[in-house]
Amino acid sequence: MRRYFSLALRPLGLLSFDVLVSRVNQHPGKTVIPPGELWLVVDGGVKKWACLSCPGGCGVQISLSLNPERRPYWSVESDFWGRPTVAPSVHQQKMCRCHFWIRKGLIYWCK
Ligand SMILES: [Zn+2]
Repeated sequence: MRRYFSLALRPLGLLSFDVLVSRVNQHPGKTVIPPGELWLVVDGGVKKWACLSCPGGCGVQISLSLNPERRPYWSVESDFWGRPTVAPSVHQQKMCRCHFWIRKGLIYWCK
């Protein structure tokens, strides 16, 4: 529900973000994730994956493991508005090879 508020506030200039979190309970597999969404896969109360379409333009699906027992792994926190902060940065090795950070739902490109 809150995401609708977030989406309504953005065009008013009251909230800025490129990506919002949506919780899902299983890995999307080959499902195409809409641009602007980060799907947080939570299974049994445990955050497993963060998945998004590459924001660099190639659109390839990026799956980030959130399992601290695997390497590499990432952490994802979201704020009140559902804006994710992902750490560390994401360096896409396939396709467009883009490298970026997501902080408070905004994408920051690395040179
Ligand atoms: Zn890309």
